[in-house]
Amino acid sequence: MTINECNFKGQKVIVRVDFNVPLDENGKITDDTRIRGALPTLKKVLADGGALIIMSHMGKPKGKVNPKLSLGQITDAVAAALGTPVKFAPDCAKAQDAAAALQPGDVLLLENLRFYPEEEGKPVGVEKGTPEYDAAKKEMKESQKEFAKTLASYADCYVMDAFGTAHRRHASTAVIADYFDADHKMLGLLMEKEVTAVDNILSNIQRPFTAIMGGSKVSTKIGIIENLMDKVDNLILCGGMTYTFARAQGGHVGNSICEEDKLQLALDVIAKAKEKGVNLVLATDCVIADDFSNDANTKVCPAGDIPEGWEGLDAGPESRKAFADAIKGSKTILWNGPAGVFEFDNFTAGSRAIGEAVAEATAEGAFSLIGGGDSVACVNKFGLADKVSYISTGGGALLEAIEGKVLPGIAAIRG
Ligand code: AMP
Repeated sequence: MTINECNFKGQKVIVRVDFNVPLDENGKITDDTRIRGALPTLKKVLADGGALIIMSHMGKPKGKVNPKLSLGQITDAVAAALGTPVKFAPDCAKAQDAAAALQPGDVLLLENLRFYPEEEGKPVGVEKGTPEYDAAKKEMKESQKEFAKTLASYADCYVMDAFGTAHRRHASTAVIADYFDADHKMLGLLMEKEVTAVDNILSNIQRPFTAIMGGSKVSTKIGIIENLMDKVDNLILCGGMTYTFARAQGGHVGNSICEEDKLQLALDVIAKAKEKGVNLVLATDCVIADDFSNDANTKVCPAGDIPEGWEGLDAGPESRKAFADAIKGSKTILWNGPAGVFEFDNFTAGSRAIGEAVAEATAEGAFSLIGGGDSVACVNKFGLADKVSYISTGGGALLEAIEGKVLPGIAAIRG
């Protein structure tokens, strides 16, 4: 069953969205892409005459209540986006009465699901690898089912529209689907759009295909990097990863972020790229700073020759040109992760150069897919959002989908 085949008149519909939006220190939303992304599904339910129960996580409260990660902070923003009042349920597992009272057109937003460890289903306070952990995990799986069943009890239908967490088998993203029959559970419109965009990249690759992977660490991206090696013509690795690669090749990286235990992995990536004929583009120079701060002193130096006391926070001019050269002329582009600490205005040049080159290639007919909260924040910050083909709300989920993995959030609905 697809959502467009459904009429929700008189139904209570629980929708898993991804409202894990970035907030500033005053709890104000700094990028509402994810809220906007969920609107088509939410509005469809209301337009049909259904009542909405919206559920999401925010951040990583690790199974404990944390007021800084309360979804109560975004209730007004959700109401403004939907153009209708939104009630807030301060305890997501005790919202039976609030859900029962909903009338057609009403909207109820549940508190952060991850205030309960059952959402993620990971035992808390027990060390991994111990016999106690295995027993605690078994127990947790049972309480996760109970938690999912409680959430399911609020509604007649379940819609999964949280692409950003579709790669997790959590209570609200997958387990809950077991409590609805095939006619009462479906993917939302955002999920359908995201899945189509991934299919577009995978089944219809126009060459050259260029992938740009940035962000802080090699370790979290290695799966997709290895996988992309079989698909891409150009692979740009930038951001904090630069320094692990520079160090692996015998360079000095000063205080830069560097994963000492991943040096061999970096060398393997370089060798594999050579073997497969992939044009691997690494930063050769960088903008270094004498402090991790926007106001630090800066200079440009080779990525493998950084003095002690200094750290690389952005790509240098030579690297920016090399990145742009590889991107221009591409026909398929995937970008995940910034090329520097773009949150500081003085270290945005690398990410900006990439964004502008992607926009230029797109104008010349390339299909460009941007994913991951930080890269999306970059294109928004640089005013390039309408100059790329598709902005995904997923980071890890997008990468796993592109790796060809079946996402649990999709499998739970489609079987
Ligand atoms: P990730 O979550 O791994 O995609 O990493 C995103 C983060 O990487 C952003 O918050 C960036 O500020 C950070 N980042 C990018 N380049 C660097 C760098 N050279 N040093 C430290 N952090 C970086």
